[in-house]
Amino acid sequence: MKYELTCINCPMGCRITADYDGKEVTNIQGFTCARGKAYAQTEITDPTRMVTALVGVAGTHAPLSVKTQSPIRKPLIFDALNEIRRTVVTPPVHIGDVVIANVCGSGVNVIATENIE
Ligand code: SF4
Repeated sequence: MKYELTCINCPMGCRITADYDGKEVTNIQGFTCARGKAYAQTEITDPTRMVTALVGVAGTHAPLSVKTQSPIRKPLIFDALNEIRRTVVTPPVHIGDVVIANVCGSGVNVIATENIE
């Protein structure tokens, strides 16, 4: 199967093509740097995404913005968002604080991206 991708790792947005036989990604072309080649391999075989969301804050109506510390596997995103949606934090919370450890067993933490005193 032939794949056509746009690398999302930097603003250059290189157009990458590759072949995938169900086991191996071959003939990767169009990338400018190693990150693009790695992106194509991951995107085709096991895509991942950063997740950003909001969690509730006890005692206020203003939610706290959070994100995953690193990309998580795409099939886990729905479960991760459900776990995030059920979470309520108690201030103070600071940028980088772990709000959810190992969200839905992904091995990735969800961290705060703003301060709430
Ligand atoms: S392949 Fe490299 S240069 Fe091209 S968009 Fe991806 S990160 Fe940027």
